This record gives sequence, structure tokens and C-alpha cells, in this order.
Amino acid sequence: MKYQVDKNGFFGRFGGAYVPEILYKCVHDLQEAYLPILESKEFQDEYNALLRDYVGRPSPLYYANRMSQKYGCKLYLKREDLNHTGAHKINNTVGQILMAKKMGKTRIIAETGAGQHGVATATVCALMNMKCEVFMGATDVERQHVNVERMKMLGATVHPVRTGNMTLSDACSEAIRDWCCHPEDTFYIVGSTMGPHPYPDIVAKMQSIISKEIKEQLEEKIGRDYPDYLIACVGGGSNAAGTIYHYIDDTRVKIVLAEAGGHGIDTDHTAATIHCGSEGILHGARTLVMQNEDGQIQEAFTISAGLDYPGIGPMHADLAEKGREQVLAINDDEAIRAGFELTRLEGIIPAIESAHAVAALSKLKFNPDDVVVLTVSGRGDKDIETYLNARS
Ligand SMILES: *Cc1c(COP(=O)(O)O)cnc(C)c1O
Repeated sequence: MKYQVDKNGFFGRFGGAYVPEILYKCVHDLQEAYLPILESKEFQDEYNALLRDYVGRPSPLYYANRMSQKYGCKLYLKREDLNHTGAHKINNTVGQILMAKKMGKTRIIAETGAGQHGVATATVCALMNMKCEVFMGATDVERQHVNVERMKMLGATVHPVRTGNMTLSDACSEAIRDWCCHPEDTFYIVGSTMGPHPYPDIVAKMQSIISKEIKEQLEEKIGRDYPDYLIACVGGGSNAAGTIYHYIDDTRVKIVLAEAGGHGIDTDHTAATIHCGSEGILHGARTLVMQNEDGQIQEAFTISAGLDYPGIGPMHADLAEKGREQVLAINDDEAIRAGFELTRLEGIIPAIESAHAVAALSKLKFNPDDVVVLTVSGRGDKDIETYLNARS
């Protein structure tokens, strides 16, 4: 693969590792350790066995007949919603916990917004008998009560964070603070392609299983291993990174990402970081950030808790700037409509995050022969109330 992070952790201008002095050794150790671990046969064998038998991979690539007719293309859905715990996040937590074990760490911390990454982390910690502490904004603890109970049931301790807006961004800051206090024994499992180098690269590599499978499954189904379009939603960017990973250098493949427009990119209520953000440093990386003129982080707004992040993974900041990714802002109402449409036409209730990707279909012009692969990042069970409230 030609497109790679450079040795200092940059994707073009974006990325790097901007961490406090006290974390320098931790981050440096991880930078030195991650590739040898990832590339070892021992790791690959354990990781692939867990993906198969525990997560339930390969996830199906499903030909969506009625949606294909509606949009005038050949639409395939990559069904990450069928993974254990209901989303793509577990691909990453399974991999990172194995990495933590290989590095001799005994305590796991994580940040979470909607609670999906927290649940995926608590799940693999139960599996691996590791101590698990999850940082979550106090506002989110209230909004996502069921996921909080799931994490506790799985044996994790959940710390409500009461600084700032008391949401995801504050939970990330608090997790980094905790890491500073326990650098020796603690592994920080980051949930998306964000944070200081090497996290964006680690998470992208863990999720790259998605496009590895798409290649094999397309070859089997249509006799060629690439689509004309790849579509995914983007919050921090991990399911999108996994979806495109093995196709970034392949210019036959168009890449379309859907970020959360909220009430619209011309309002104050948006999470469309690539449209509205400017260059800054957030949670250890140089990237696009929603901020005011003084560099104060502005709260992101979207109906979708999983896309509610005022930053974006540095890899996507770079690929979007270079024009390799076309990024669409999808508003709340468009995502809701698309979620209902997929439900009624295919019998699949998508996560509200994934519904943003579905909504992108109506903004593109396809040829009838175009093969389109769209990643359904998660299932919508957690979002039923959101769907119903938005409809009434
Ligand atoms: C967390 C989440 C997302 C957004 O995270 P990315 O890192 O951008 O993939 C999207 N879909 C679902 C179902 C999620 O849980």
C-alpha cells in the first residue's frame, strides 16, 4: 500500500503526537511496539480466531435488491451491524486488548460518548479478565443509561465526567488525564481513528478487516474485487477507514463519506467537522477541529450520539483535503428518513449513525451498472426512541 502514515505519525499535514511530557514514554513505547505485535504470526492467529468465533466474522456482504432498484445502481451492504455487540467497534477493541496483553498491561481505560465503544471495551475486558474503567460525560451517562448498565453488568467501572459540556470530548480529555497518572500499568483503548500517533494507524489497521472482506466477497459475487463507490458514515472515522483501507490507492473506486450535519452546516448546531472545522490540535493530533477564533472547542451537535465529536481522524482530514474523499454533510432529518427507508425496503433497522451513510445515496448520481458498497456500521436497536421522537 502506497498511502501510509509517515514515521512521525503524519498523514500529510495532519496527525502527529501532541502529548504532555508525562505521557511521552507511554506513547513512544506504543509507537515502537505496535507494528511488530500487529505483524507477528501469534497476534494475527489469535486476532483472526476471535474475529471469526467471537465477533462472528466475516460479516455478510448483502445485495440490497429493493434499495438497488430505488437508487438505480447495484447496492451491496456491508453488515457490520451483525457483529457481536452490534457495531464495528468490537473489531478494534478485540485487537487492542490483545495488544495490551502482549505489552504486559493489566488495566484498561477507554472513553465513550454514546457508550458503544465503552460497551465493546467492557465486553472484551470481561472476555480477557482485565480491569476496565470507562470515562463518559455526565450528560451522556444520563442520555445513554442502558449502555451504562451494560458496561456495569460486564464488570466495568463507569466514571461520569463533569467538566466542560460533559460529553465525549470531555471524556477523552479525562481518559488522557487518567493515563498520565497510571502510565506504567494502563493501556488506553482509543475507540476511533483519532488521538496521538500511533492510535489513528492502529485503529485503521484493526478495522481494515472490513475492506479485506469486501475485496474477497466482491470477487466471489461479481468476479471483480473492487466497487465503483464506497460509502460510509464518519464520526472519528474508524468504520470509514476500515471500509476504504485496501482501496485508498485504487483510483477506480470513488469514496463518499457522510458526516453529521445536525441542523445544517450553516447553523451552530452541526457536527460536520470537515465542512466547518479549522486546523487545530485536539486530543493529541493536529487535525480539523470545531473551534471559535480563540481556539476554544465548540460543542458538536447531531441527533446521532456516535457522530457527536468536534474533531475528525487526521487520515480523513488529509484524504478529504486531497480530494480523495468526497464528504457530504447529512442533516438529522435526512438521516431519520433514510433510516426508515432502509427499514421498510430491506428489513434492516440501521444505527442512526449508519443512516447518515444511507442518506448519501440520494445525493449521488449513479449509472445502472455501478457497484456501490455501503457500510452499515451498526444496528438501530439503541436508536428506536430517537427514530420515534423524530417522527412524531
Ligand atoms: C461509534 C459509531 C460510529 C462512529 O465512529 P467512527 O469511528 O467514525 O466509525 C458509527 N456508527 C456506529 C454504529 C457507531 O457505534
